[in-house]
Amino acid sequence: MDADRDDAGETLPELCDVCGAVITDHSEVRARVPDSSVVHPDDPELDGWRRLTACSAAHLAELRDEYERRPFIDEEQWAGKMSRALDRHPDGLTFEQMAAATGLTRSQLDRAFAWHNHRVRRNG
Ligand SMILES: [Zn+2]
Repeated sequence: MDADRDDAGETLPELCDVCGAVITDHSEVRARVPDSSVVHPDDPELDGWRRLTACSAAHLAELRDEYERRPFIDEEQWAGKMSRALDRHPDGLTFEQMAAATGLTRSQLDRAFAWHNHRVRRNG
């Protein structure tokens, strides 16, 4: 089986999330900030965290400010977990299966559905 990560070869340069500067000398600064729109493709432990990369402490501070102003919406996070579960089960899931796949309760699933539907309607 092929390696599923391509970290065997050269590492890709990092890009500053603010100015787009290409950082090739490993001088980038990083942080993780809470962000309810993030679900990690395979590691639920990392759900709700956005990884930030910047070329300098000043640009990292700018990014942190931006994300700190953004509210963390539980329902958005739960809806993200649900859509990840549905990606893996394209034939659909029962409530019980969805609860097991996402670790969410029935009432959390209901709230996530309501949030999602509200947003879909609002965005036309
Ligand atoms: Zn920068």
